[in-house]
Amino acid sequence: MDARYKSREIERRSLDVDGLKRSFLEWLVYSVGKDARAATRRDWFHTVALAVRDRLVDRWMDTTRTYYQKDAKRVYYLSLEFLIGRLLSNSLANLGITEECRKALDQIGISLEDVVDAEPDAALGNGGLGRLAACFLDSMASEALPGYGYGIRYEFGLFEQRFEHGWQVEYPEQWLQFGNPWEFPRPEVLYPVQFYGRVEEFRDSVGEKAYRWVDAERVLAMAYDTPVVGYGGNTINTLRLWSARATRDFNFGHFNDGAYMKAVEQKVLSENLSRVLYPNDATEGGKELRLKQEYFFTSASLQDILRRYLQHHTTFDNLPDKAAIQLNDTHPAIGIAELMRLLVDQHGVVWDKAWDITRATFSYTNHTLLPEALEAWPVRMVERVLPRHMQIIYEINAKFLNRSKARAAGDNGRLSRLSLIDERGDRRVRMGNLAFLGSHKVNGVSALHTDLMKQTVFADFHAEFPDRINNKTNGITPRRWLHQSNPPLAALITSRIGQGWIKDLPQIKALAEKADDVVFREEFRRAKRKNKKRLAAFIARQTGIEVQVDSLFDVQVKRMHEYKRQLLNILQAIALYNEMRDNPTIAWVPVTKIFAGKAAPSYHMAKLIIKLINDVAKVVNHDPSVHDNLKIVLLPNYNVTAAEIIMPAADLSEQISTAGMEASGTGNMKLALNGALTIGTLDGANVEIREHVGEDNIFIFGLTAEEVNDLRASGGFNPREVIASNPSLKRALDMISTGVFSPDDPNRYHPILQALTDGGDHFLVTADFAAYCEAQEQAMELYRDQEEWTRKAILNTANMGWFSSDRTIMEYATEIWDVHPVKPEHVEDGED
Ligand code: PLP
Repeated sequence: MDARYKSREIERRSLDVDGLKRSFLEWLVYSVGKDARAATRRDWFHTVALAVRDRLVDRWMDTTRTYYQKDAKRVYYLSLEFLIGRLLSNSLANLGITEECRKALDQIGISLEDVVDAEPDAALGNGGLGRLAACFLDSMASEALPGYGYGIRYEFGLFEQRFEHGWQVEYPEQWLQFGNPWEFPRPEVLYPVQFYGRVEEFRDSVGEKAYRWVDAERVLAMAYDTPVVGYGGNTINTLRLWSARATRDFNFGHFNDGAYMKAVEQKVLSENLSRVLYPNDATEGGKELRLKQEYFFTSASLQDILRRYLQHHTTFDNLPDKAAIQLNDTHPAIGIAELMRLLVDQHGVVWDKAWDITRATFSYTNHTLLPEALEAWPVRMVERVLPRHMQIIYEINAKFLNRSKARAAGDNGRLSRLSLIDERGDRRVRMGNLAFLGSHKVNGVSALHTDLMKQTVFADFHAEFPDRINNKTNGITPRRWLHQSNPPLAALITSRIGQGWIKDLPQIKALAEKADDVVFREEFRRAKRKNKKRLAAFIARQTGIEVQVDSLFDVQVKRMHEYKRQLLNILQAIALYNEMRDNPTIAWVPVTKIFAGKAAPSYHMAKLIIKLINDVAKVVNHDPSVHDNLKIVLLPNYNVTAAEIIMPAADLSEQISTAGMEASGTGNMKLALNGALTIGTLDGANVEIREHVGEDNIFIFGLTAEEVNDLRASGGFNPREVIASNPSLKRALDMISTGVFSPDDPNRYHPILQALTDGGDHFLVTADFAAYCEAQEQAMELYRDQEEWTRKAILNTANMGWFSSDRTIMEYATEIWDVHPVKPEHVEDGED
């Protein structure tokens, strides 16, 4: 064997400083093709990523091989979004070679931080739902569960957000522009996916009626695999993302009639399917391309799952014992009809059996109760795009309604609510109902949300199938969200309780007894201050705004949405600004309000709120009369990378959604784990966070979900009265309406004021305003007492162990999937 090849062979596996250094220098030249003198930061990133990737490959193959050898039951997590962010520091941390890598690069004269910073942020998702999928990948690999992620390899991730004159402007996010060193293209793993055409009825070999889908257009789904490194580096799972490729089956007739270019054009257009992620969080536009994206990745994934299964099996009887398919929201719910089609039409399984198999294989996670977010595709569109699926859905529906008829006992309202077809207006396919019916388990993502599911959207289904709905409160991976993103706190924790918490977060509970230890408190504060300095520098770089490191960092970072109520926060900021100006002699607690979040490009109200925050910031930040006691910052382009800098630095975590509207939240967990105190409503997982951290260590305010429901139902809520009776609220709104913050366009905020008054204040901003201000005052007051504040912050960190996504994923594994850990049998390092 060539000597150079042999040396690379050995180096591939070495995890020490010398071995890493040697491979970096060699990889730079032979894989990236650059001389060290000419290498840019990006070249170094590609070099290091490729060298680290090499160190994953053996274990990755061992992992996959073990799953095959044991014919292990796998779980397939189907998700239209995987918000994975950067992978280099995560891979290094999970392999446990961050320091070795840092030293190796130091010796070459390169800083690891610079290399890490050169990696683009893979933003293949919108927010919580996509980030949850990413945390689950980490937890499945860390828990040695045979888990695969399946999604779309979007060429353009979530748009890049910039502010121009305070307005959000969207730019394409070209994360693949310079190549992606983590992925392995699999040009041989190709599946055809069809659209349009028609259904032909025929008689099968035994004379039974059968159907085939003909004259359809075809696209190919091509796989790209990314290794998912579990903590400790033992299990390395796979994230398989599909990219659309045109088929090569040109009609040669086109050569003759001159339509060749047209045919080619059409083929190229079919590749648009995986071009771009839809930028709406929690709402669905109902666009045909979106339906096609959903079917595209679901069909390819199911074909791949069946191919894998059939390597070991000759019938489909055992599919549910070998594959669990989790639907992350309804986006892949068409998979239920697709699996029926594959089983019945392509593999000749009889209908009833196919249905039993399908239901035992699928389970579904609901993520939102917002009516506008429940997917419902026009029947006419589904008929045209997926004609055979429409038939299958009708058939499933007819059989189900027939069976339910007896129980409905003449209650036609109930039957029409259970139907997969919404017959009101233009007829629509209710994807939530299809997902529910085709799954053996359906889960919500926090205790409150699951209860509300039972009472509202799925009340009728819950009556029909009382054992199907269950709760799986979301979680977050402690690897990325504490160990990796908060080195000062992670090191402090490890110095006191060892590093077991990284893999077993509940161990962090041992910190609770240190909350009364003044020395520990001092160190905890020092860690927080270090993170705040880092964030302050980031803010200065991104916005030019100088903030005081010792001010209270009051953080609201999440998608911009009316129900999340950034508006409530900025109104309180205006009220605080007024108080500071009115009482300049008071020793105010300095506050820095930090916002970040993207608005969907077509969501005008959310974009107007962004402009309002920027306008208010401009006035407040330049007003000498508040003596820098209040600063307002709206950071552009919130993404996972920004979150990793923001979460560790927060003092106060804003979780202030209208109660009943946030399904769970996960930002709330990240902030509390990093020692922020929550100010929040009793919504989503805030309810459970309060139970764990204790009600003395959280600022809860405002209407409960039940009160919100009652208030809305009573019809008696009058926001104008509330405004009139609250001078500070009235003054804040008057300032907005008279153009104090928008002298160039005094009417700019009319739509916001309108929504809060004549519009009936649907999100109950005015209703919660007074209680919110009171809770804010309590927080500021407590912040004066740094010892007490720190004590509570420590208790937050110490009591967040339950919110590890390892706990969540093991609940899914045991209660929904029946999937068990499988330890890979590794070839030892250095062995041939
Ligand atoms: N976006 C990013 C980048 C995140 O990291 C998170 C969670 O922390 C979210 C969105 C979801 O935030 P929230 O749960 O506050 O809506």
